[in-house]
Amino acid sequence: MENFKKDFPLLAGSDIAYLDNAATEQRPRQVLEAEREFYNKYNANPLRGLYALAMEATERYEAARERVQKFIHAARPEEIIFTRNTTESINLVAYSYALSTLKPGDEILISIAEHHSNMLPWQMAARQTGATLKYLECGPDGSFPEEEVVAAVTPRTKIAAVAHISNVLGKVMPVEALIRAVHAVGGVVLLDAAQSAPHVPIDVQKLDADFLAFSGHKLMAPMGIGVLYGKKALLDAMPPFLTGGEMIESVTREGATYAPLPHKFEAGTVNGGGAVALAAAIDYLETIGMETIHKRELELTRYTLEGMKQRACIHVQGSGRAEDHCGIISFTIDGVHPHDIATILDADGIAIRAGHHCAQPLLKHLGVMSTARVSLAFYNTEEDVDRFLKAVCRVRREMGYGE
Ligand code: PMP
Repeated sequence: MENFKKDFPLLAGSDIAYLDNAATEQRPRQVLEAEREFYNKYNANPLRGLYALAMEATERYEAARERVQKFIHAARPEEIIFTRNTTESINLVAYSYALSTLKPGDEILISIAEHHSNMLPWQMAARQTGATLKYLECGPDGSFPEEEVVAAVTPRTKIAAVAHISNVLGKVMPVEALIRAVHAVGGVVLLDAAQSAPHVPIDVQKLDADFLAFSGHKLMAPMGIGVLYGKKALLDAMPPFLTGGEMIESVTREGATYAPLPHKFEAGTVNGGGAVALAAAIDYLETIGMETIHKRELELTRYTLEGMKQRACIHVQGSGRAEDHCGIISFTIDGVHPHDIATILDADGIAIRAGHHCAQPLLKHLGVMSTARVSLAFYNTEEDVDRFLKAVCRVRREMGYGE
């Protein structure tokens, strides 16, 4: 595998071992240049002006939509809605779809392993509609057995919303079985793909997902651009989430008729530079190939886990099998607070995350207050991992323990 770090100005220009990729990835030069080019050469408000520059800006913005469409294998470009991030995409579905369709007694099914961004919107929807919020529980290793997932679906399940890959454990949810079971009772499924879209190939048509959300910044694009995929028939029937400029067909004193998809859901000035840069990030990823990226990240995960298993004081959350971690490894060290682990590693230029990872109910379920988390991307190297392993072995000594 070639060394990709040369493409990433931040990584090439420092000796940081950046191992917090689940929080946000670094941006390659190609992505930064695409955003710069948009503002240097094509800057005008997309979807508005009738002059050549504005039409160019619009064309580039809409071409970015088609790039995303192909990336996740959606059937139509208008099924791709640009948002700010995963959080906004999920809120759009909760406010628009859930509030307009749920009735008292209906069930929303999520899992205990959700990021707060895929939990709080459903708590809100349940409160406001009288629907019941049900949780899938995972085993101590973070797994969701397929038969238990299917058994949790009832004739009242109207919406299931789950993380495709957990941001704490890296475990993959058996989404195909869930989608089949929910469709069999007439419900819809939203996949939170924040941690899967950057790392594994996604085909929304093969999955038959109804909605899918992800963030550009976790996929090497700038912060502030995100995606909601939705099946056309569902999006068509949904009321707008935000209202205002550019999402209308006509407005009178009394009311408005709304623009067709996708613009009905893109009120206000859009993030043109972000969308174009997201398309460049997808180009970059697909030049390498999503299968290759997934394989490389599994290799690095295996290497990291093997190193961690050599130390009895390190406890990995989850199964410890590389296939169950997808580049994300949460761990604790006997007698050391995770914040101290992160601080000690930071002194050596190693960036990892520590805390509750916006998944407090999961950590409570697993019986821990917080964890340290190392998360890998294809541009990491064995050398990054070696530095991490060496430093992590020093943590207990630095905290005053014997070894
Ligand atoms: N869901 C998952 C699984 C995540 O990992 C994250 C980010 N940590 C989010 C949702 C929220 O993403 P964002 O902050 O970009 O909206």
